[in-house]
Amino acid sequence: MSMPLPIGQAARLGAYVVGKHLRGVKRYPLVLMLEPLLRCNLACKGCGKIDYPDEILNQRLSYEQCMEAIDECGAPAVSIAGGEPLLHRDMPKIVQGYIAKKKFVILCTNALLLKKKIDDYKPSPFFTWSIHLDGDQVMHDKAVCQDGVFEVARDAILLAKSKGFRTQINCTVFDGADPVRLAAFFDEMKAIGLDGITISPGYAYERAPDQQHFLNREKTRQLFRDVFKQGKGGKSWTFTNSPLFLDFLAGNQTYECTPWSMPLRTVFGWQKPCYLLGEGYAKTFKEMMEETDWDDYGVGKYEKCADCMVHCGFEGTATADSIRHPLKVMKAFMKGVRTDGPMAPDIDLSKQRPARETFSTHVERELAAIRQSNPAARKHIAGSK
Ligand code: SF4
Ligand code: SF4
Repeated sequence: MSMPLPIGQAARLGAYVVGKHLRGVKRYPLVLMLEPLLRCNLACKGCGKIDYPDEILNQRLSYEQCMEAIDECGAPAVSIAGGEPLLHRDMPKIVQGYIAKKKFVILCTNALLLKKKIDDYKPSPFFTWSIHLDGDQVMHDKAVCQDGVFEVARDAILLAKSKGFRTQINCTVFDGADPVRLAAFFDEMKAIGLDGITISPGYAYERAPDQQHFLNREKTRQLFRDVFKQGKGGKSWTFTNSPLFLDFLAGNQTYECTPWSMPLRTVFGWQKPCYLLGEGYAKTFKEMMEETDWDDYGVGKYEKCADCMVHCGFEGTATADSIRHPLKVMKAFMKGVRTDGPMAPDIDLSKQRPARETFSTHVERELAAIRQSNPAARKHIAGSK
């Protein structure tokens, strides 16, 4: 484990968090999760984004909407995903707009278009490529349901590094992953000069069709212990996750989620309550923060949350804990993650409220709005009946 960010950036983010903490602000965003489009050029199993009707997949957040989103929430960083962000025509302008506002930009891509588009971007201390890579060649090509994608992604990393870009990967760890193999993959990434790895366990969020491959909490904690054990408690590799989040993944911390720390703005609006569960959408960030019943959500409170340990729910919790307990974080940082001994008690699930039915009204509402504002689309639909 080492610092996920160069010291200047870490200091800037640290000052933001400490400032909020000192002012007693209870809920604040760390990273804006932006999905400016849902269209993708891959069709991974387990992806809950790409099975919307075409009219929704054709929607884009405009440059102006993307800038508004960060101005509204005030987060110091933005993670741009989708769908595939490189399919958005205005993406270079959007990235540049954020950098001009001194926001840290993480551009998440499956890398298929990176070679073609890379010269539309310039290296900057505020800009990072984050390549989607879920393991070695066999693991990744299987996860994305297409042969050859791993090779393209690895070449893209080498290209981005050779042009001076900060480059990391985001790696979702799925049920049944082999710890030894995953460790060998992390070693390989280290050897090609990658700047960092963001890990998160796979999780059966509501729209994912392939439920059985996602991890439950118990298996997750053991799997991460087994992985970190292969690399000196994780110290062998550079993770962009905070040390206490890794400690949480390995079952050494009892945390409740703080999903407002990574709020999601999509083509539907601001998603309530979190990146993973879409149980409603708000027009503004303020409305989302004020109208979400936060006490109704989280592990032990809601059935749909039972297995969740994902980074967009718990990284903020780990960060807040780091501010409160700097010694604990130093220990995790210096010694690595503890991979044996008893695990921290997990949250009681016996009183959680049952899952509510899937909400899809936002899709119908969005479709109606698209048809209203676009007579051509209306005619096309009328004609296709
Ligand atoms: S690359 Fe990402 S958005 Fe595209 S299909 Fe795969 S998981 Fe979904
Ligand atoms: S536990 Fe928190 S982050 Fe996870 S799905 Fe529930 S509300 Fe979202």
